[in-house]
Amino acid sequence: MTTYKSYVNGKWIDSASGMTAENINPANTRDVIGTIQMATREEARSAVEAAYAAFRDWKRTPAPARGKIVAKAAKLMEERKEELAAAITREEGKTLSEARGELTRAINVVEFCAGESRRMVGETIPSELPANFAYTIKEPHGVVACITPWNFPVAIPAWKIAPALVAGNTVVFKPATLTPATAVLLTEIFNDAGLPPGVLNLVLGSGRETGDEIVSHPAVKAISFTGSTETGLKLYAQVAPRGVKVQAEMGGKNPVVVLEDCDMALAVESTAQGAFGSTGQRCTATSRAIVIDKVADDFVQKIVDRAKSFRLGAGDESGIDIGPSVDEGQFNTVLKYIDIGREDGAELMCGGKRASGDGLENGFFVEPTVFDKVTPDMRIAREEIFGPVLSVLRVKDFDEAMAVANDSDFGLSSSVFTNDTNLVYRFVDEIETGMTHINSPTTGGEAHIPFGGVKHTGLGAREQGSTSLDFYTELKVVYVDYTGRKREGNLY
Ligand code: ADP
Repeated sequence: MTTYKSYVNGKWIDSASGMTAENINPANTRDVIGTIQMATREEARSAVEAAYAAFRDWKRTPAPARGKIVAKAAKLMEERKEELAAAITREEGKTLSEARGELTRAINVVEFCAGESRRMVGETIPSELPANFAYTIKEPHGVVACITPWNFPVAIPAWKIAPALVAGNTVVFKPATLTPATAVLLTEIFNDAGLPPGVLNLVLGSGRETGDEIVSHPAVKAISFTGSTETGLKLYAQVAPRGVKVQAEMGGKNPVVVLEDCDMALAVESTAQGAFGSTGQRCTATSRAIVIDKVADDFVQKIVDRAKSFRLGAGDESGIDIGPSVDEGQFNTVLKYIDIGREDGAELMCGGKRASGDGLENGFFVEPTVFDKVTPDMRIAREEIFGPVLSVLRVKDFDEAMAVANDSDFGLSSSVFTNDTNLVYRFVDEIETGMTHINSPTTGGEAHIPFGGVKHTGLGAREQGSTSLDFYTELKVVYVDYTGRKREGNLY
């Protein structure tokens, strides 16, 4: 059985903690994939210190040279794509085809960031004074902590680590404890690509202990976090007194708005893919369908039929559409919310329980679930469930649909189904989400396009695309006076 270790200053280290955690396949809990050696606080500190020691030379390495190493990492990811996909499926549970999709995105992002290394340009700005000008340069912060969740165990770390490195930062990577195998593979790949020791360090350990130790360390100047709103906001408050930069991508409660004139087959299929694809464990998953009364019966009947047609099973088997919840805790959370929905008076139309038969009882499988007649005050309409559960909310018209869609603490993604161009643009103007989709699912994104949300979903600069280096760089402004004389007059 594999043992997963932390990686500090160019070496895999044995932890002195004696504490371990098992990596378990959520589709079949009898498949124990490996054992994590959980790092101690001291070991987490040594990772930050190694990153700090490596920073000066890494910052001095020309950005295009840093980019070449990141480009090599993209190539190695491509070469090891099947191995990575199998690791994702086995420890996270998504299907192989979903895992391959995640990898395509991850590789694209890493390639894109490598290219950005040749575009770390600033501005030259003419001065108010003769024979003067100013320019800007982009500089790294120093040590950056990348703290990541389990749901995209390769793509999310990749889209934090690659821009952090290209910008000239050194990194301490703290992945979720549920997905150590992919974290180890990714660390190995970046280091095999030629990173000097200390530039990328991996800490495997609990968030409460090692995560806390990393973010509390004075050398950590910036933190890029993806995970729950609760942890993200806590972390933000914790480091605020030190003035640490924080970028956080947190919860979602993404709505689709289904208008009367829409292509109903398209709306149903896109909603089903958004709600049940990847077992609903995407930050951008569809969790609320806000449907105009007149077409709601039709929508509900069709989405229920579609929900029932999803084939559940181990993600490495052929013909499987969706895998399990990632672990027992997440599985229980989903079942708890299903109970809450029932108790709050929503109408359960399908699913609503643990899936069984064909060995499904060996894993954490929940049947795709649809609730109808959900009202905006119900907890299943307000709180993130992170499972294959869709709430249908019926509304009378476009205005009510917008009010309901925006009645949320979250604001990551959304979509609208209509062929009325006026309503499309009104929707775009009025919807309170960082990303929105027209006639397509709430999920999905591209490597060269910014990603992120508003309200309690997102904090700090957007990740990926043209904005991917923003969070990882500081701007330095340089004033140049080439008159060779004492300045006449003042600049304020
Ligand atoms: P999820 O379990 O949904 O992925 P969490 O917010 O619990 O979301 O975890 C996201 C990441 O944050 C994980 O890597 C976790 O270990 C880490 N983490 C949790 N608590 C802390 C903390 N107090 N300080 C730093 N990192 C933490």
